[in-house]
Amino acid sequence: MYCSAECRQAAWEQHHKLLCLGPSHHDPDHPLNKLQDAWRSVHYPPETSSIMIMARMVATIKQAQDKERWQKLFSHFCSRTANEEEEIAHKLLGEKFRGQLALLRNLFTTALYEDRLSQWFTPEGFRSLFSLVGTNGQGIGTSSLSQWVHACDALELPSQQREQLDAFIDQLYKDIDKETGDFLNCEGSGLFLLQSSCNHSCVPNAEASFPDNNFLLHLSTLSDISPGEEICISYLDCCQRDRSRHSRHKILRENYLFVCSCQKCMSQMDDADMTSEEEEEEEEGEGETEGDDIEDEMTDV
Ligand SMILES: [Zn+2]
Ligand SMILES: [Zn+2]
Repeated sequence: MYCSAECRQAAWEQHHKLLCLGPSHHDPDHPLNKLQDAWRSVHYPPETSSIMIMARMVATIKQAQDKERWQKLFSHFCSRTANEEEEIAHKLLGEKFRGQLALLRNLFTTALYEDRLSQWFTPEGFRSLFSLVGTNGQGIGTSSLSQWVHACDALELPSQQREQLDAFIDQLYKDIDKETGDFLNCEGSGLFLLQSSCNHSCVPNAEASFPDNNFLLHLSTLSDISPGEEICISYLDCCQRDRSRHSRHKILRENYLFVCSCQKCMSQMDDADMTSEEEEEEEEGEGETEGDDIEDEMTDV
């Protein structure tokens, strides 16, 4: 589904000519449907955006006149060592499904193989592509429903109609919640070349958001930035950023495979390496939910 005819046309020209399922939309034997089904079954939440980003990358190059330009563009995304790639791929799939990478690669190859990109279809190359999306993919959450509700709130209505509308909206949220649970928003993911080149800081001076409720990413400053100063975003949410240096490093190391040396981390360098006992207890208590959160963040991409 596309928001406008222009977007549909743009997608058609960039990758959809190759990825269009047309009348095979509901055919479970279509190679692309098989790929998406396999991905859904080894991955939670049951979205297909990560695997489809990879498919779009292949399709974009296959469709492009200037194939080299796109290949070069994709090569600008942060790449990893083989060991790191393996870790990221496993993280994306989760412990239970780490063996499924080979299955995904087979289905991916059947659906999309291209001679020119043969390296992406080898076990190492596929894992590398997989980790590229894992490392650089940015989750995009938009909500057409909340946009509509805001517009309703702004209406000037006689009080009786206002009450009816509010009651309708309350009921609507309840009904949707029954069907979808937590999945109220439209979740997708994208690769953003400029944003993905921003490094992490525990005291970021910028943040990414989607204020237009579409795929357009806005990078806004959180504080004044001097000429020449590096623009940094944070991979941690604000609660995680408030935690001790030790805890932040643990999250960053496990999920993003690096050791942070931002200003804040440098200034806390002399803090004890272990969190205090109290903090530790708190951490253990939070441990489970927090691990889940992090994994969701990784899998959002
Ligand atoms: Zn189509
Ligand atoms: Zn830091």
